[in-house]
Amino acid sequence: MQKTRKPAKPRGGSKRLAKLDQLTIPATYDLRKVGVTQTLIVAFQCCRVRWLMLLNGLRNVLKNRVTVFGTIMHGLLERVYKDGVPTEAIRQKWIGQIKKEEPDAFRAVDAEQIESDIWMAESLFLGYCAYWKKDFKDKKAHQTEHEFAVEFNGVTVRGKMDVREEDKAGDVWLWEHKFLSRIEEDVLSAKLAMDLQSQLYLLADFHERGEWAKGIKYNIVRKPSLRPKAKIERGIDPEDPKGKRKLYSPETRIEYLQRVRADIMERPDFYFIRHRVTWTKRDREGFLRELSNKLNEMAKVIAGELTIWKNQAACIIPFKCDFLDACETGSLANYNAGPLFPELKEGKAAGRAIKSKKAKK
Ligand code: SF4
Repeated sequence: MQKTRKPAKPRGGSKRLAKLDQLTIPATYDLRKVGVTQTLIVAFQCCRVRWLMLLNGLRNVLKNRVTVFGTIMHGLLERVYKDGVPTEAIRQKWIGQIKKEEPDAFRAVDAEQIESDIWMAESLFLGYCAYWKKDFKDKKAHQTEHEFAVEFNGVTVRGKMDVREEDKAGDVWLWEHKFLSRIEEDVLSAKLAMDLQSQLYLLADFHERGEWAKGIKYNIVRKPSLRPKAKIERGIDPEDPKGKRKLYSPETRIEYLQRVRADIMERPDFYFIRHRVTWTKRDREGFLRELSNKLNEMAKVIAGELTIWKNQAACIIPFKCDFLDACETGSLANYNAGPLFPELKEGKAAGRAIKSKKAKK
């Protein structure tokens, strides 16, 4: 549909693009020097137009791609594995830091929603620290988040790993934090075994250590699904002469949040689940082959050998695409250009890939 590789202003340049059909692959983009993340690869698989938008650093100013809840929860877990279980004052300080570091997560979200999400994340975090207290006894067993940049077939693959754990048997497991509302036990293993994010962690870890980890440990935090009650009995109406009429009112936000917090403390095993998926030779071979195919195809699009086309099947399934209104109207008025990899700390992962070791099959 669209021609690729037309000369274009680099992302963040002075020329502001107003129309979707003006969008091209940034002239500064390079698979080796700039590289890819899981987000970019998934976008490429789903829809090449979505990938092109992300490649230009475009973000919908009216919508967040991350949730306040997930951002706070992730930020707290990152810090607790680094610095240990915090006091109340330190936890509040961490929340302040997360808000400053991740402003995008709080954009276009109303104050009440932010407050509820923070309360929810804090409630789960308190329950988590109590339930998994053994984690914080041996600091050396858990290496915390770090950004990686590794070379694979001439492409720099970037990302941020959650936790690397060495268990008592000396096996290395890479963790991934997952915040899920619904957990279907029967599909969990299959779904997680196909998780590109985790596969990229395993690849990065292999390049960093020279051997494959045993697998992925999914550190699942279940998001409470309790809903505020529409009606709570509030005693007898003092104005009823018979003294029988009951008074009702909806559950207040504070009551609701307190009920959620109590539920987390009462049944932590429902909210905090760990699930291990072993990484087999067959898994590795399939993943390396597929990753290679995907990146080769991406290189061909960048070189103009393959075209960019809209995948209409991905516009609303499984969720509404952030770029739906751009595709519908052709206008980029609701989009701002920002950093290409907002999930990575600026400068840290830029420019240099760790020299690849030959992948053992
Ligand atoms: S709205 Fe549809 S066609 Fe447009 S970028 Fe999203 S998935 Fe692609």
